[in-house]
Amino acid sequence: MSGAKPLHPGLFTWPDQNPSLLGSLCLDCGEHAFPSQRSCRACSGQNTRDAELGNAGTLWTWTIQSFMPKTPYLTDETPETFRPYGVGYVELPCGLKVESRLRENTPDQLRIGMPMQLEIISVRKDEKGDELVTFQFCAAKETH
Ligand SMILES: [Zn+2]
Repeated sequence: MSGAKPLHPGLFTWPDQNPSLLGSLCLDCGEHAFPSQRSCRACSGQNTRDAELGNAGTLWTWTIQSFMPKTPYLTDETPETFRPYGVGYVELPCGLKVESRLRENTPDQLRIGMPMQLEIISVRKDEKGDELVTFQFCAAKETH
């Protein structure tokens, strides 16, 4: 996917061999935010900086969507090719819960609390033919 462009810039480090979600950290109170915020929602302070939020978390809750995705998840799918997909909230080590599409798409593949990892997926091509990518989470691979 070298040469691929993020569908929405600034959500994850890219290009990167080991992409990380990008958010912000409030230097006054320590609150994280995703996507990055210039003003802290916890203390209203303006003293924030961009922060890498990592590429792993645990599944906080999930559901299976059985209708076509909306922006920013539009793909080349049509009603005929569309397959249901998982969507969930992944809790990051910093405590943030990030809404994300999930690779897994059947209930027997998903359970609350399971380890998840970030992955970058192709969405579609833009008008110039360049590949557009976005993030989703999938079940973490066993690392023995
Ligand atoms: Zn703050």
